[in-house]
Amino acid sequence: MKVADIREKFLDFFASKGHTKVASSSLVPGNDPTLLFTNSGMVQFKDVFTGKDKRPYTRATSSQRSVRAGGKHNDLENVGYTARHHTFFEMLGNFSFGDYFKENAIQYAWELLTTVYKLPPERLYVTVYQEDDEAYSIWNKQVGVPAERIIRIGDNKGARYASDNFWQMADTGPCGPCTEIFYDHGPEVWGGPPGSPEEDGDRYIEVWNLVFMQFDRSADGVLHPLPKPCVDTGMGLERIAAVLQHVHSNYEIDLFQTLIKAAAREVTAQGNAVDLTNNSLRVIADHIRACSFLVVDGVIPGNEGRGYVLRRIIRRAIRHGYKLGCRKPFFNALVGDLVAEMGEAYPELAKAAAQVQSILKAEEERFFETIENGMAILDSALGALPKGGMLDGETAFKLHDTYGFPLDLTADVCREREMSVDEAAFDAAMNKQKQQARAAGKFKMDADLAYSGVATEFKGYDALEVANATI
Ligand code: ATP
Ligand code: MG
Ligand code: MG
Ligand code: MG
Repeated sequence: MKVADIREKFLDFFASKGHTKVASSSLVPGNDPTLLFTNSGMVQFKDVFTGKDKRPYTRATSSQRSVRAGGKHNDLENVGYTARHHTFFEMLGNFSFGDYFKENAIQYAWELLTTVYKLPPERLYVTVYQEDDEAYSIWNKQVGVPAERIIRIGDNKGARYASDNFWQMADTGPCGPCTEIFYDHGPEVWGGPPGSPEEDGDRYIEVWNLVFMQFDRSADGVLHPLPKPCVDTGMGLERIAAVLQHVHSNYEIDLFQTLIKAAAREVTAQGNAVDLTNNSLRVIADHIRACSFLVVDGVIPGNEGRGYVLRRIIRRAIRHGYKLGCRKPFFNALVGDLVAEMGEAYPELAKAAAQVQSILKAEEERFFETIENGMAILDSALGALPKGGMLDGETAFKLHDTYGFPLDLTADVCREREMSVDEAAFDAAMNKQKQQARAAGKFKMDADLAYSGVATEFKGYDALEVANATI
């Protein structure tokens, strides 16, 4: 089953259960200035859950484009290292706004997985929140999942991979337990079941999260039952596609294979040999999706906020191309291939293709001017370090400041070579430069004011000294 069919089957299944199909919203959330990117299907419905916004339906289904490359959910550092994380992915979801609750949500999920997608039930594991006996009993008694495949999980706040089965929008507001469905890719793949010490492996992969918004947490921490509990679910399209296409890594699904081949074509066109299983091709294939869709949604590369996240992802992709031998732009050439794969599901992508390509190309041309010299500096600095060494902050800062290497890019190169970077020293170097710039700016402003004849108040020698001392 191809990715496009899997998406369609999901939406059609929930439409047949009375859900309204709702289009994906933008990656730039329109209703939440505190959120960097739309990172799940529920984002566009946030106000509907709290009752602030009303819709003509109480059941909805969507395939939401999502980015997790900054802010609360950041999977940028997982890309290229796990089989299941992307910076950009599609989240399939079904939502109940005060309509059905746990029973239906669980039954629908099970029906879709075992009868529409026809997954063998014995490969499915579920987790429930440790105190959620209701969800446990629905899985066990009504659905018939045996006790040995139901795992109770607590809230592991702050753990990088560990399952966390209590969901909350923020410190206050709607929250509740969740239940997650995992697929066992088999003993050939390393990893352990959820809750075990090996759960960060790729054997048992979380495919679907069903969140039960059951409480409203007040500022004093007390949980008040919501009068109309809601359901919010999210299933990674690429993950379920891997399961249905009998491959264990998301990067082996049809959509990614096409993008990986396209990336290899560009690398080869520049005279380099590359194996299709090369990890850098995977990273490039991941990043072309995130970068293109971010531009479609109005983000442009820049030095701050969303624009800087985009710039960092583009530059990471370029660095991987550089590693494979590319010495001139290649990344923007993948936009056409992406449109061929996803343009039908996302007409806004097809429409903006030319603009996306030209923005990526400009950014690429810019970084290709400095990457070679920057990499030479980084190579020689790392070459001088002992095994497991730490790159000094001054060099990392020089790479950032003069060669346009974002810190995370430098850190990624270090990580590949089993080294690290002194981030505290990098921050110190950055702060020092900021202070200098501020002082220089103040000095210049005073001079400009004096020159323009505006009277400046004499603040004493101390102030002058401070300004001069840091120049
Ligand atoms: P994981 O534990 O694997 O990082 P998660 O618990 O952070 O996933 P949720 O927030 O529960 O993920 O999101 C719902 C679903 O979206 C997940 O069950 C998974 O199928 C999918 N998903 C989450 N993050 C990613 C990602 N970075 N790339 C691809 N799919 C993802
Ligand atoms: Mg995660
Ligand atoms: Mg998880
Ligand atoms: Mg989850």
